[in-house]
Amino acid sequence: MNAAAEKFPELREALRDLCAHYPDEYFRRIDEARGYPEAFVNALTEAGWLAVMIPQEYGGAGLGLAEASVVMEEVNRCGGNAGACHGQMYNMSTLLRHGSAEQKAKYLPGIASGKLRLQSMAVTEPTTGTDTTKLKTTAVKHGDRYVVNGQKVWISRIQHSDLMILLARTTPVAEVKRKSEGMSTFIVDLKETIGKGMSVRPIRNMVNHETNEVFFDNLEIPAKNLIGEEGKGFKYILDGLNAERTLIAAECIGDAYWFIDRATKYANDRIVFDRPIGKNQAVQFPIAESHIETEAANLMRWQACALFDAHQPCGAEANMAKYLAAKASWEAANVCLQTHGGFGFAAEYDIERKFRETRLYQVAPISTNLILSYVAEHVLGLPRSF
Ligand SMILES: Cc1cc2nc3c(=O)[nH]c(=O)nc-3n(C[C@H](O)[C@H](O)[C@H](O)COP(=O)(O)OP(=O)(O)OC[C@H]3O[C@@H](n4cnc5c(N)ncnc54)[C@H](O)[C@@H]3O)c2cc1C
Repeated sequence: MNAAAEKFPELREALRDLCAHYPDEYFRRIDEARGYPEAFVNALTEAGWLAVMIPQEYGGAGLGLAEASVVMEEVNRCGGNAGACHGQMYNMSTLLRHGSAEQKAKYLPGIASGKLRLQSMAVTEPTTGTDTTKLKTTAVKHGDRYVVNGQKVWISRIQHSDLMILLARTTPVAEVKRKSEGMSTFIVDLKETIGKGMSVRPIRNMVNHETNEVFFDNLEIPAKNLIGEEGKGFKYILDGLNAERTLIAAECIGDAYWFIDRATKYANDRIVFDRPIGKNQAVQFPIAESHIETEAANLMRWQACALFDAHQPCGAEANMAKYLAAKASWEAANVCLQTHGGFGFAAEYDIERKFRETRLYQVAPISTNLILSYVAEHVLGLPRSF
């Protein structure tokens, strides 16, 4: 493997040691049972890996996006799925950047130690989808409380969270100058709200990804749970997206290397027509092509990390890294499955599981089309298409 892929070798070694306790069979069993990798997430938490981006004053490691991205990459590269816990790493950034001193002191130490899980963020709605500024969930202030009504969809990891970030409209769209104004973010204490104005319905889906429909029926949240200023919530959510996209790019890079390693090994070992299948260029070229595309995507991931950690604008690079990495991992998944022939479909090879898991990232947390439109408009200056 080349030098760029092996940046932060000591960090990788420590993660690989931890992940070695959770082999393929562990994740396969969890997938089959549609369970949650509780023991693995606890081990990652206790070792402090999910708190690497939280400043030291709140009990985290105070490291950069580059180091955080290595954590996510290694989880996927070792055969796991960071989707079970990546929210804990980045959802706190809304609180960290825009929360009051009191909110940060109240929540961040618990999030850093893992005592509090902030793994959920509720943005997407069933009728408005990607058109976020049209979201219909409202939060109306009554004295010292906000009353929330509406519905969300695809809200992940609620069953394994104590806290959730909620985006809701606090001023009707007709009363704001720009449709991106008038939305606010709140920190929701799930123990106090589920069953008391908030109900949750799990969505069975293609991946073993814990995700839900959420219904708000006169849910009351204390006004002090508003994060930052009322009406600026959409901007706060956008502020956290570059980190989220780059971390997910790193997960895809981890997946892609996992697929390439498995495909290479199998192509060397599997003998058909009295020779390794990998001797056929029709088998080796797609693996080589996947490797090239993954390496290129990885360079863009490091570029996004470097800019982010230097506090430079990195929207274009974070989006492009996510686009390239999700594409590279999906192509590597296809190549790996094809290289394994029929055995690629057998659950015990783990390829079909990882194949399903990596496919998600063409759609969530942002679809490839929306990245293309971002680059067309914001990088190339083409007209906005919607
Ligand atoms: C497993 C899973 C977990 C998720 N977890 C969360 C979560 O925790 N929190 C959360 O808030 N959301 C979550 N999401 C939601 C996810 O972010 C959305 O599914 C995603 O942003 C796409 O939105 P949509 O599904 O409403 O698709 P739509 O907006 O309905 O789009 C459907 C398709 O049309 C395309 N499209 C739409 N408009 C345009 C356009 N103008 N130009 C070109 N193409 C267009 C899209 O690219 C997409 O391919 C999750 C989704 C999944 C599947």
